[in-house]
Amino acid sequence: MSTTGYNSQNGAGGQPYANGPSQNPLLVPPSGAGYNIGTQPLYSNQMPAKAPLSTGPGPYNPGSYQMTPPVSSYQGPGQASLTRPPMGPVQPAPFRPAGPMAPQSQNSTPPPMPSAAPYAPQPTWPYGAPPVSVSSPPVPTMGNHVTPVPGPVPNRHSPSPYGAGHTPPLHHGASLPPGPVSLPASSATSSYTYQGAGQVPTPGEASQINSFDHLEMGTKGMVGPPPPQTGLAGRPTGQSYPSLPPGYANMVPSASPLQSPKPPYSPAHQPYQQPQANPAQLSPSLAALSLQSQSPETLRAVNLLQERNILPPGPVTPPTPCLPQDLQKLNCNPEVFRSTLANIPQTQSLLNKAKLPLGLLLHPFKDLSQLPVVTSSTIVRCRSCRTYINPFVSFLDQRRWKCNLCYRVNDVPEEFMYNPVSRSYGEPHKRPEVQNPTIEFIAPSEYMLRPPQPAVYLFVLDVSHNAVETGYLDVVCQSLLDNLSSLPGDTRTKIGFITFDSTIHFYNLQEGLSQPQMLIVSDIDDIFIPTPDSLLVNLNDCKELVQDLLKGLPQMFNKTMETQSALGPALQAAFKLLSPTGGRASIFQTQLPTLGVGALKSREDPNQRASLKDIQHLSPATDFYKKLALDCSGQQVAVDLFLLSGQYCDLASLGCISRYSAGSVYYYPSYHHQHNLAEVERFQKDLKRYLTRKIGFEAVMRIRCTKGLSIHTFHGNFFVRSTDLLSLPNVNPDAGFAVQMSIEENLMDLQAVSFQAALLYTSSKGERRIRVHTMCLPVVNSMADIFAGADVQAITGLLASMAVDRSVSASLSDARDALTNAAVDSLTAYRSSVLTIQQPGLLAPSCLRLFPLYILALLKQKAFRTGTSTRLDDRVFAMFQLKYQPLSYLVLMIHPALYRVDDLTDEGALNINERTVPQPKVLQLSVEKLNREGAFLMDAGSVMLLWMGRNCNPSFLSQVLGVPSYAAVPQNMNQLPELDTAESVRTRAFVGWLREQRPFFPVLHIVREESPLKAAFMQNMVEDRTESALSYYEYLLHLQQQTSK
Ligand SMILES: [Zn+2]
Repeated sequence: MSTTGYNSQNGAGGQPYANGPSQNPLLVPPSGAGYNIGTQPLYSNQMPAKAPLSTGPGPYNPGSYQMTPPVSSYQGPGQASLTRPPMGPVQPAPFRPAGPMAPQSQNSTPPPMPSAAPYAPQPTWPYGAPPVSVSSPPVPTMGNHVTPVPGPVPNRHSPSPYGAGHTPPLHHGASLPPGPVSLPASSATSSYTYQGAGQVPTPGEASQINSFDHLEMGTKGMVGPPPPQTGLAGRPTGQSYPSLPPGYANMVPSASPLQSPKPPYSPAHQPYQQPQANPAQLSPSLAALSLQSQSPETLRAVNLLQERNILPPGPVTPPTPCLPQDLQKLNCNPEVFRSTLANIPQTQSLLNKAKLPLGLLLHPFKDLSQLPVVTSSTIVRCRSCRTYINPFVSFLDQRRWKCNLCYRVNDVPEEFMYNPVSRSYGEPHKRPEVQNPTIEFIAPSEYMLRPPQPAVYLFVLDVSHNAVETGYLDVVCQSLLDNLSSLPGDTRTKIGFITFDSTIHFYNLQEGLSQPQMLIVSDIDDIFIPTPDSLLVNLNDCKELVQDLLKGLPQMFNKTMETQSALGPALQAAFKLLSPTGGRASIFQTQLPTLGVGALKSREDPNQRASLKDIQHLSPATDFYKKLALDCSGQQVAVDLFLLSGQYCDLASLGCISRYSAGSVYYYPSYHHQHNLAEVERFQKDLKRYLTRKIGFEAVMRIRCTKGLSIHTFHGNFFVRSTDLLSLPNVNPDAGFAVQMSIEENLMDLQAVSFQAALLYTSSKGERRIRVHTMCLPVVNSMADIFAGADVQAITGLLASMAVDRSVSASLSDARDALTNAAVDSLTAYRSSVLTIQQPGLLAPSCLRLFPLYILALLKQKAFRTGTSTRLDDRVFAMFQLKYQPLSYLVLMIHPALYRVDDLTDEGALNINERTVPQPKVLQLSVEKLNREGAFLMDAGSVMLLWMGRNCNPSFLSQVLGVPSYAAVPQNMNQLPELDTAESVRTRAFVGWLREQRPFFPVLHIVREESPLKAAFMQNMVEDRTESALSYYEYLLHLQQQTSK
């Protein structure tokens, strides 16, 4: 009857959803939820709202496609002898492409990008306000702060086929009688045909709709000032058909006619009507929202100086917003979407008074065990602010719903009257969109600028002498061989390879060749693509050639003496190769780039590592990598960097290539195929996850919030295209994001506010999909209620990202001071504004009792620590991680969980699938908790350390480790043997259960007292004093002194 279909699926493949969800299936903890080791961001991504980008795919060598003689490609004599041609005369001559070339875009050198947001150093953060003097142009009106247009009215928006945000003319909804109507099949769809629907625009048509911005259909086309004219460099988004002329983006009228009307549905007049017909069944009404105070427990005053044992025995749970239960039941899973404050202050001044940061933490593409997926010809969205219909809208009656972000009243489209879950008519409030805070839509064609791109994977491999020495090529090639058929994709999937040392090597894998053909380009100052059509090939059609190449590649460079690294030119080649389609480039690099563009020099002086208070060189040495990343972003190319090097590689510079192209960074500082087997195992497991995890292409994400709130700073790996739109050429399930918010208008009239994140992407199967998460939080007006909803983990996570930015824009010491001040200020505010009875000591509300501990742990983190020798790349990598990891793994990285495991029992154990999983208590991170007779497991997220005392319980040694004595424990042990003893079963069940909760595989190291890894274990003992850092108790005394000033 209608085109609506509905099923539930786990992200990879769908199963028909038979009975329809009545509850949020996402609240069921996913089995393989996820995060992947070592993916991390760096620094703030505060970019000019419309940074002038360079144009065209080849900005670095404008005019580099010089007409030159054809390449003399090297035809490998056979698989066994597929080696490099001798250097010198056999080198191919510069390539002259046959046929007409696409004209190069303007020879415009992009102006220098501001490298980081230079705001004035301040010891504390102005939480609510946007950072001062960010070097971006004036920020246009937030898309989600639309002044509501009176409705229902005819579409008064711009007549652009797309620009108007696709507002369909909803003629029918309001005029049809309420109640069940038998709906002829044709009317369900015909009501919604409107201009632009169902067609992919031709490039000519598309000249008006340059970007996915309009596809996600923000309000940019309807309200807000136009993007600034950027002249020749004015391809503001770069998201388009490559063939489109520059400058087409500036299509928004300069004056917005839609900003003036007064909202007829101003919040003050909203009685949150219940529908007459069947009130109980319509979506939950906010009328029931009552702001009873939180349970006293979260506000219970804890004297930190007296209560030593403040860790909960299990995981720290986020606070529950004080919403009515029926609304809370529908709220988004906090692992996907949460706020630093579960109760939103009514005004900015109240927020300022509380001295707590307000922000959102997201894990938008997280692997979910159940994800409702809707196929519908009409995706119902607010006509005014483009919010997707969600569980927190209100239905005025069966035919009208009111937006919970802008309060506009919208018609219920005819098709929405049918509920595919119950297969009944007239129950719009029971539609899956209104029952699930997280939902995915299969997007119709108007959400596409071009046919969805295929999955395209390009591997770029360092084959210099140094790289061959590490032995990593074997692992990469073997992993690819093992997982070739598991790469996400379909029959259109493409794959290609580039290797590089001082020259760039391409591989012709075209169908019909008897063996892979290597093509060497030695002119690295003028990179060109020798045979553009045969280097990225269809994986299905050319699988055998690909396999041949992967089998031969590790040996091909065995004897190389080439020590140079032309990474920059290799990246340019990758960009050119991927530009026509978009896709993913995976870069494997083992040393500092030394040749061509992007060459770097060592900036680290190891002798000064520990002595300098302020760390230099946290920002990039060149803007080459960032500029190239922005070009990549414009062409839907993401670059992931795998750095395997024990030597300084200037990650601060190299990392920009991933950070701004929405890629990931992986780092293996001590990788060696023989000397460090644990690292090899970690690399193997990471690669398996990396190659097989879900991937979304050509993605954008927009976060909307209720009018009155404003989002101002984003953290993560992406490029901020417009004020609130993140460009994500790739999105992966292990990426986290954070945003800071301020309260721009008094929220006095509101009882609750909502936040919605919409991620539009192309699946590896070529479907355009939109994943939408909606969260609703109450508005409160007392300091007590604000503090009662403080989410200590989310607050710490956001502060960590802010501190990374501060380290780069100001200094490390400034960032450290700001972290401590964050704790001092909030505890002072609590003492003066919430506590009614003053008592001595350092008092924190129970919900923030871990705050000083987490802040101290952050200060001792590699990213922020001082006084200890910390390699610059290690520090920068930790900073990446802090900005990019989803919160749950971030917390383990900052404050690992410590358990005693030599005396595990079944008492209080979980029973999962007939497996008994012991649940030992989480211990404080202090050597006080260790003893020589025990064995202790430290779970730091991406790594687990099992430390054993010298007099370790002999039964543990024999029953779990299978060794007769302590001395017999092998030095590099990183597996628990499978022994047939109760102790072994228990220990493995526990470690296995911890591992199952993340999608990557944390490597386990067994650490003896004299093991070199003992230092790593002890460094995580954050409650203890070190030569250069205070103990937890000393830190508390310091805070107490500061709060009582
Ligand atoms: Zn709206």
